[in-house]
Amino acid sequence: MADEGASPRELVVEACRRDQPHLVEQVLEDMETKSNEEVAEFFNGVTDSMGNHALHICASYGSYDTMDSLFDIQYFECDPFTRLDKDTPLHVAVRYANEKDAELGLEMIKMMCEAGCDPRVRNKHGQKPADLVYNNPKIKTVLSQTEYVLAEGLTNNADNGSAHDSAIFEQYQGDPTRNFRFIHGTATRVNHAERQVSVCLSSETTETVEYHALVIATGSTTPSPLFNLKRDSMGLRAEWTALRKALPMAKSILIAGGGPAGIETAGELGEHLNGRAGWFCGKLANPKVPITVVTSGSQILPILRPSLASQAEQYLAQVGVTVIKNVRVKDAIPSAGVENALTSKTTVVLEDGQTFNTDLYIPATGMSPNTDFLDRSLLASDGRVNTNTSTLRVEKAGPRVYAVGDASDYARATVHFIVEAIPILCANIKRDLLLAEGVDEGSAGEDRTYKEDPSETQLVPIGRSKGVGAAYGWQLPSFAVWLMKGRDYWLWTTEKLWSGEQWSKKL
Ligand SMILES: Cc1cc2nc3c(=O)[nH]c(=O)nc-3n(C[C@H](O)[C@H](O)[C@H](O)COP(=O)(O)OP(=O)(O)OC[C@H]3O[C@@H](n4cnc5c(N)ncnc54)[C@H](O)[C@@H]3O)c2cc1C
Repeated sequence: MADEGASPRELVVEACRRDQPHLVEQVLEDMETKSNEEVAEFFNGVTDSMGNHALHICASYGSYDTMDSLFDIQYFECDPFTRLDKDTPLHVAVRYANEKDAELGLEMIKMMCEAGCDPRVRNKHGQKPADLVYNNPKIKTVLSQTEYVLAEGLTNNADNGSAHDSAIFEQYQGDPTRNFRFIHGTATRVNHAERQVSVCLSSETTETVEYHALVIATGSTTPSPLFNLKRDSMGLRAEWTALRKALPMAKSILIAGGGPAGIETAGELGEHLNGRAGWFCGKLANPKVPITVVTSGSQILPILRPSLASQAEQYLAQVGVTVIKNVRVKDAIPSAGVENALTSKTTVVLEDGQTFNTDLYIPATGMSPNTDFLDRSLLASDGRVNTNTSTLRVEKAGPRVYAVGDASDYARATVHFIVEAIPILCANIKRDLLLAEGVDEGSAGEDRTYKEDPSETQLVPIGRSKGVGAAYGWQLPSFAVWLMKGRDYWLWTTEKLWSGEQWSKKL
């Protein structure tokens, strides 16, 4: 096809079919005045007449160079689905390797995994790309290693939402028992007197939604962009992609924060970059990339007993991580909020005057609740929503308003408390709705009450095979921590959470 007169979409499709990266460059040149987001939006929307996206087309034609050029586009979506089978480009590349050219297929798959394609995403038939591999152990290995790295959090997203956030909601479409509307936007204000929420939609328009009942579950934000969904999963992926690109050049890393997020990150990066000391060595001598964790506490992992914290420090030492305790980070330049701070060399100054010049700085110093869209009168002193810890109602906000998760002060921020609280919250909403409909107290049922379990429960994997933890006050062996959490960070639980099956018997 001659490119004169061809539309940008046609040029991209042609580039993908015939491996002509210069056509992609031509389209990019014509978009010079557009923002990165606009460029990505265009390329993410390109499909052929069958609904295959640019990466699917490259994968099915073995267009390695064009695929490479597409991955240079910031915010480029790595895991779009085909229309019919909901295959990702990795599924298509595996088929290409099976049926056409195993060697080129392998190279494409390696590049795709490097670029952030997610081998954990299943197609419509429940198959992951690895399930389609025929007689090719090298491809299986690449896919399973990437799965491992993703599960450990060294790349992509935290929501194994890997696919798309909206996929959670798409599953309900057409189900007459679930009557809901999904609005993709940011709640910018709740007027609890008028019972209205203002939502800023992605198109920058604002919609006002009236509510009869409201659940606040907006979670929290971390200082490091690596750990939160303040933007969306694509933004989170872009951060991890940037980190992965920077990792091979890093000569030193500093992590602020001795809680589980800081310690797990240190352990993962340590083993990934430095390997692990031999069986009888307490400490890894001369790690390739020295990693320092700074914590203001007198021990790391403050929820756990001191002996477990010391054990964790030993595991960290074996992967090249040093812990500095009892001192806070006073300043970091550039600070975490500045663009590209994640991958910039950073000067970190501690309160005791020590100064570090580090290639990567990861602040893991806790979370701040996403509650700035609420009236301050509804908030506790720590910024979380002031919630009745038994009933999960936000009493100051008027009837039928509830809060749960990190945005609420009902309990400590952990997923298992949320899982326990959901049936209680739902039972109480149901009761309140029935009462509002005029059902009498006796028929509406009793309030259900939540009580936070104060026992020592936390599992902290450290690197690929170790970990420390306790469950309900019982210390767990390292192997059990790996088995229960380190293997896949509870990913296997997400399906039931997504579908709601987790609670179907309890409601
Ligand atoms: C690095 C890290 C590791 C962790 N590891 C564990 C662990 O191993 N085990 C464990 O139990 N807990 C862990 N936690 C804690 C756990 O992730 C949180 O307790 C849990 O995710 C909170 O869930 P949530 O639904 O309240 O909030 P979130 O998961 O934060 O979800 C909030 C959602 O609300 C959206 N949102 C925010 N503001 C607005 C707004 N104004 N309008 C519309 N939407 C909005 C966000 O985009 C997001 O989708 C970890 C946390 C971090 C940061």
